[in-house]
Amino acid sequence: MGRARNIGVAATVLAGLLCVVGCGGGSDSAADAVPDDRGGGSPNVLLISLDTTRADYLGCYGRPGGVTPNLDRLAAEGIRFERAYSTAGITPVSHASLLTGLNPYRHGVRVFFGAASHYLEADHPGFASLLGDAGYRTAAFVSAYPASERFGMHHGFERFDTGVSDSVMQQDMSRLPPKDGVWADRAAAAAQRRADATVDRILDWLEGGDDRPFFLWAHFFDPHDTQLVPPVSWLDRFDVRPREPGAAKRVYVPEVAFMDHHIGRLFAALRESGAYENTLVVVTADHGQGLGDHGWFPHRILYQEQIRVPLLMRLPDGPRGKVVSPTVRSIDVLPTVLEALQLPLPLDLDGAPLQPVIDGREGARVAYAEALNTLDVFAPRALPEVHRDRLFAVADDRWKLIYHHDHPQRSELYDLVEDPGELRNLFADRPDQAARLLEEIRSRDAMYVEIIEPGEREPEVFEKLRSLGYVDG
Ligand SMILES: [Zn+2]
Repeated sequence: MGRARNIGVAATVLAGLLCVVGCGGGSDSAADAVPDDRGGGSPNVLLISLDTTRADYLGCYGRPGGVTPNLDRLAAEGIRFERAYSTAGITPVSHASLLTGLNPYRHGVRVFFGAASHYLEADHPGFASLLGDAGYRTAAFVSAYPASERFGMHHGFERFDTGVSDSVMQQDMSRLPPKDGVWADRAAAAAQRRADATVDRILDWLEGGDDRPFFLWAHFFDPHDTQLVPPVSWLDRFDVRPREPGAAKRVYVPEVAFMDHHIGRLFAALRESGAYENTLVVVTADHGQGLGDHGWFPHRILYQEQIRVPLLMRLPDGPRGKVVSPTVRSIDVLPTVLEALQLPLPLDLDGAPLQPVIDGREGARVAYAEALNTLDVFAPRALPEVHRDRLFAVADDRWKLIYHHDHPQRSELYDLVEDPGELRNLFADRPDQAARLLEEIRSRDAMYVEIIEPGEREPEVFEKLRSLGYVDG
């Protein structure tokens, strides 16, 4: 088929038709490695991670006002998981779990930077290496430094485009309209990019395709930074002034909306090319954002607004418009995709395919998350003292324990059915449930942390993180 699989804007419909007929049916060994018994070629895989995006700010999760029409449409076309958890409230830890199907104590990325590891080693196979071995063309387009190769997120990708470390990225930022330049002279601009720039680069990559199916990880960072804001027209649409009192919270909505708009542009390009119908799509977030709930604006702790994330899936031959209520986890995404592609699962994943939960044969999973704040030099000084601890959380459909390792008496237990806002701590009142969930944590060896010597503080890392607002002192 040669280059007939290209998703070029110019030859889109033809390419799509050829793709349906011939993708995965080539004679080269790489293509043969991909099972092809659907009659439509091996599906492409599009994994989208929305940084800092709370589930309850998406229309399909109940947010009014038409903020996320493109993600809402995806939910209507596929599966929406009502209660999905990430494994941490910080970017590299959570993404490492999403990419590998492992909890942090298994993949080893446990802090942003500090006395425990912050680097994903190459020996944990993830989406890129597993799908690459199966004959996929693989690429990642990430929008900020915390999801970059500095934290080991690049292993296995043929193309890894961070928008940070190459000079082309600087060019991308500078060509954005000057009137939108609220961010233009900020150091932050060098360490992150907006959804419009990221999608532009993705579309270029899609145009240069070959006859393999693709695996694409697209990471968007817009809702993370309250000062790197969308274009003025988007702020106007939601009546937000960037420097008015309360703007830090109010700008969150246009940031989410702007990100959704550009994800819609990506979906539209895939539809136009004919590739969309044969693309498995997963959208989730690495964590949410406090926005003042529980007295905390950013992320990194373990309440629901931080670790309950959106999770949408559009599986080939999967249900349409389905809502799945039992608790599921970001570590389940990789095995679910592998199963949908009829590829073998690595033996020792922490996650498991969600197909039995989707079709009702299985109930809730037990979710795990952690926040080793005392080991992380980037835990902000403003972090409330009660969270200056090693925090470990487990949750099922009803109960959630946040265990405070260094001050066990401060531990928290919530009944998520009666108290979804986590306002009434039942740790002292329900020792039976607390003990049961604590045993869940202990049984995993999650509390063992390999302490590493800080050694030379890497100044480059420190400066980039400072520019993104992670360092407040
Ligand atoms: Zn993040």
